[in-house]
Amino acid sequence: MTAPLLEIRDLKKDFPVRGGLLGRSVRAVKAVDGVGFTLRRGETLGLVGESGCGKSTVGKLILRLMEPTGGTIRLDGRDMTAARGAVLRDFRRQVQMVFQDPYASLNPRMRAGAIVAETIQNYETLPRAVLRERVAALLGKVGLRPDAMEKFPFEFSGGQRQRLGIARALALSPSVIVADEPVSALDVSVQAQVINLLMDLQRDLGVAYLFISHDLGVVEHIAHRVAVMYLGRIVEIGETAAIFSAPRHPYTQALISAAPVSDPRLRRLRLYLEGDVPSPLDPPQGCAFHTRCPFAFDRCRREVPVLGPRATGQAAACHLPDPQAVAA
Ligand code: SF4
Repeated sequence: MTAPLLEIRDLKKDFPVRGGLLGRSVRAVKAVDGVGFTLRRGETLGLVGESGCGKSTVGKLILRLMEPTGGTIRLDGRDMTAARGAVLRDFRRQVQMVFQDPYASLNPRMRAGAIVAETIQNYETLPRAVLRERVAALLGKVGLRPDAMEKFPFEFSGGQRQRLGIARALALSPSVIVADEPVSALDVSVQAQVINLLMDLQRDLGVAYLFISHDLGVVEHIAHRVAVMYLGRIVEIGETAAIFSAPRHPYTQALISAAPVSDPRLRRLRLYLEGDVPSPLDPPQGCAFHTRCPFAFDRCRREVPVLGPRATGQAAACHLPDPQAVAA
């Protein structure tokens, strides 16, 4: 097995909650609470969970758009958690982002060619003709015609704009792309085209994706491995096939039950989520999922379950080794 390209350990992010007349910090919301995973070269890890589970915050922490409260971020074995100056600049070249809303992330007053060229010019000084050739090649790689270079973002369809966003992310030949809900704003038919494009690019360029999404159907299609988050923690992580055919955490089972997955026969157990996600301001004691879990028992209310290995290959944070067996 190859060494991990990206290694995240015990990542934490607390947001202070201010109160009182002086607006002092009175408590903290643990938006990310000890998240850890690895990402190998050319691999896609899907990071899934309901809205507010902390998955987008994990993406922002990895991109160094936010300072973590604790934990480490390593790229190619080098600790980047507190990198500054030239080291951080090089890290940003290596780790790029694709946004959910391409329109909001593209300067409406710049032509597509200039948008992609600007990213390259931040790092390299190239003769005009060489730069133009490079931009045209990048646009071609994402399926945009050469004349797209002269267009403004509003002249593109949603799918074309996301292709442009992907071209910009690829402009510096990154080794990792953090894609936060990259297709959720697109029509279903266009979603499939963009997902297939991302997969083709990965095959050709060997880029790794951290693919953040609430859509399990999409994640099942694109990801080699999946990590499921609930209230700031990973509750299950493993190979996509194991997660979808034999989920070992009731929360994962419930997400799969609700998702249009490729083979409904794989849903060995139907489990539906009741109630809302508890407030991260006041998370439940013990297992954070116990207020919604149909299998909860006394121990769940007292003790936080550890993310541990299961016979089916993945790791899950549940006191029951196989909740499906309990249900059966
Ligand atoms: Fe449910 Fe208990 Fe497992 Fe938590 S530890 S998921 S409450 S059975």
